[in-house]
Amino acid sequence: MKNRWSKSAATRFANKHSHSINRDIALRIYSSQLQGMESSLVLHGGGNSSVKSSYKNILGQNIDAIFIKASGHDLATLTAAGLPGLHLARLQELQSIKTLDDAQMVNQIRCNLFDSQAPTPSIEALLHAFLPAKFIDHSHADAILTLSNQKNGEEKLKKAFGDEVIILPYIHPGFSLAKAVAKAYAKKPDATGMILMQHGLITWGDDAMVAYTNHIEIVTRAEVFIQNRLNSKKSKKSNNIATAKKRYRKLAPQLRGQLAAPTNNPDTPYKRFILSPIIDNESLNILAQDRADKRLLTPPLTSDHLIRIKPLPAWIADSEQIAPAIASYKKSYLKYFNKHSKKHHSSYDQSPRVSCIPGVGVVCAGADVGEANIVRDITKQTLQVKNTIANMGEKYSGLSDADMFAMEYYPLQQAKLDSEQPPALAGSIAMVTGAAGAIGAGICRELLANGCHVAATDLPGPHLDSLVADLKEQYQDRVIAVAMDVTSSKAVDEAMGEIIDEWGGLDIAIINAGLAHVCSLNDMKTEDFNRLQKVNIEGTLNVLSATGRILKMQGTGGDIILISTKNVFAPGANFGAYSATKAASHQLARIASLEMAGDDIRVNMVAPDAVFSEGKRKSGLWAEVGPDRMKARGLDEAGLEAYYQNRNLLKAAVTAKHVANAVLYFVTRQSPTTGATIPVDGGLPDATPR
Ligand code: ZN
Repeated sequence: MKNRWSKSAATRFANKHSHSINRDIALRIYSSQLQGMESSLVLHGGGNSSVKSSYKNILGQNIDAIFIKASGHDLATLTAAGLPGLHLARLQELQSIKTLDDAQMVNQIRCNLFDSQAPTPSIEALLHAFLPAKFIDHSHADAILTLSNQKNGEEKLKKAFGDEVIILPYIHPGFSLAKAVAKAYAKKPDATGMILMQHGLITWGDDAMVAYTNHIEIVTRAEVFIQNRLNSKKSKKSNNIATAKKRYRKLAPQLRGQLAAPTNNPDTPYKRFILSPIIDNESLNILAQDRADKRLLTPPLTSDHLIRIKPLPAWIADSEQIAPAIASYKKSYLKYFNKHSKKHHSSYDQSPRVSCIPGVGVVCAGADVGEANIVRDITKQTLQVKNTIANMGEKYSGLSDADMFAMEYYPLQQAKLDSEQPPALAGSIAMVTGAAGAIGAGICRELLANGCHVAATDLPGPHLDSLVADLKEQYQDRVIAVAMDVTSSKAVDEAMGEIIDEWGGLDIAIINAGLAHVCSLNDMKTEDFNRLQKVNIEGTLNVLSATGRILKMQGTGGDIILISTKNVFAPGANFGAYSATKAASHQLARIASLEMAGDDIRVNMVAPDAVFSEGKRKSGLWAEVGPDRMKARGLDEAGLEAYYQNRNLLKAAVTAKHVANAVLYFVTRQSPTTGATIPVDGGLPDATPR
C-alpha cells in the first residue's frame, strides 16, 4: 500500500487552516483523509481516528482534550465538524470502573463533549482515550482482515509480525474492548500497532506521520505476506456478462418482491428495498467455484458491517426457485434471532441484504439507493477477502453467532434504527411518463420529496435532460432519465428494463404523456386524430400492460395513476381529438382497475384543468394549443390563464403541485380506493365525475 504522506502537503494543509483550527487537529484531518482515500483500508464511515490536544474553554482555561472522529462521518471527507472535542481527563478516569454498559458509556461520552450540539463520537471513543499516544489511527483494512479472519489466523499474524505488533482476540466493541486494548498496550508499549482479531488494526504515534506510516507499513507487510502464499492457478475463466445481465433483468422484480418485508399495515403492506447488483467477471467466477456456497455463507469481515449486510447472505442455487430460497433464509434468520434475543429485543425484518445467484451475480439490497450501494461496496470487499483466503488454501473464520447478535442488536444501533421515521415513499420506485412537461415535472418533484426513486421518462432531448439535471442537484441517485416513446411497446419494455437494471423493479407508474390538438370535427384530418390516439390511447395501453406485468411478477401490489382531464367529463368544442382519445385512455385505466385489483394494484385517475407551467418549465401541451385557444377567445397569454382561473367555482389557479398532491394522495394510500378520479380544477360543476 502506498504511503501517501507528503511533508510539504501536510505543512500546506496545516497553514491553510491555521486561522480556524490548531495544528494538531489540522494534521489529524490531513492524515485521516489520506487513510480515507484507500478503499482497501476503510469504506463508508468505517475506521476512526483521534488526536489528543488542548481546548480553550469559555473561561480562557486550556484543558487537555481529545478530538475523535464522529460516528457516521467518513475519513475521506473529514472536517473539524466531524472531530468533536471531549474532556480527556474525565474520559481517562473511567478506566477505573469495572463495567459500563453501552448506554452508560454513550452517556459518559456525550456528557464530556465541549459542545452540546456536537455529533456523537465513535463508539470506539474510549479506546482512543485510554491509549496514551497523541495520534491514534484505526481501520478495518482488507489485508489485516484476510489474516485475522482465517483459521489459525493468530499464528499467521505472529509469523508475519513477530513481536512488533500486539494481537488481541475478538472483543465486542465498547467499554470492555477499550480496557483490554489499554491493558495489552501497557504490557508492550514498544509495539508499533495492535491487531484486533476479526476487527481491524490500531496504530499510534506522537506525531500524525508516525501513526499513519506505521499503519501503512503494517498493512503492506500483511499484503506481501498474503501475496507470497497465494495459489497461483487462479481461475481466469471469462463469463458471459451480457447473459448474466439479461437473466438479472428477468428475475430482479421477483427477487425484490420476495425481499419486501411485511409491515402488518394493510394500506402499505410492505417495506420495499432497492436493489444494486454486482455483475462482473470476478464475482461470477467466485460464485461458480466448487463449494462457493460454503465459502460465502459465512459471517461478515468485521462487526461494523453487520448492520448493513446481516450475518449471512442468501444463496439462490436455482434462479427458478427464488421464493423457496428466500423463505428458507427468513426462517433461519428468525431461528438465529430467537436463539440469541432477550426480552427487550425486537427483530428487524428477516430479508437478506445480499443474495448470491450463480450465473447471475450478487444482488445487494438497501432501504434506498444510497444504502444499497453501500451494501454493494461492502459486499465486493467481502467477496474479495473471502476469495483471497480461499486462494491461500485457508479456511475462513468469522465471528460466532453470539458475537454477531450482540453487535447486530447493539442497543445503540437499534435505538437509532427505531427512531428513524422514513419518508412515506422510501424504498418505492416510480416511473413518470411525459416527465419533461409542466405536470410531469411537478409530479417528479413531489414524489422525490417524499423519498421515492423516480425514473423520469419522455422523448429523448434537452427538455428531459435539463429536468433531470435540475432534480439530480437535490436528489442525486434517486432520479434517473429514461428516454422512452410511449407509442412503441418495445420501447416501453426496454425502458422498464433500464429501470430494473437501476433499482430492481417498479411500484408506481404515472401515465402522464399526452398530446392535444385544436380542430373542429368538420376540418379534422385523420392523421392528426391518429397522432393523438397513438400517444393518448396506445401509449396508455402500452404503459398499463408493461407495468401491470412487472407489478404482478413482483407480487407486492402497486399504484398506477392516469393523468386524465376535465375534458373526459366536460368535453370542449374544437377539442374533439383530445377529448375523445383521453376518454378512451380514462376508460382503459378504469378497466385496469378491475383487472388488477386482485393483485392489490390500484389504478386511479387525476383530472386537472389547465396547468400552464411548473416553475420555469412551460407546458408542452399548452405551447401547442395555447395560441389557438388565445386566438379563439381573443386573449393574450396572461388573459388566457386568467380566463381558466375565473371559470372555476373557487377561482383557483391550478398548479402542477396541486396535481402532484392528488397523485400523492393515491400513491401514499390514504384510503382504500381504486378506479376513482380526483378532479383538480377549482370546481367545475359540468366536469364533476359521475
Ligand atoms: Zn473498529
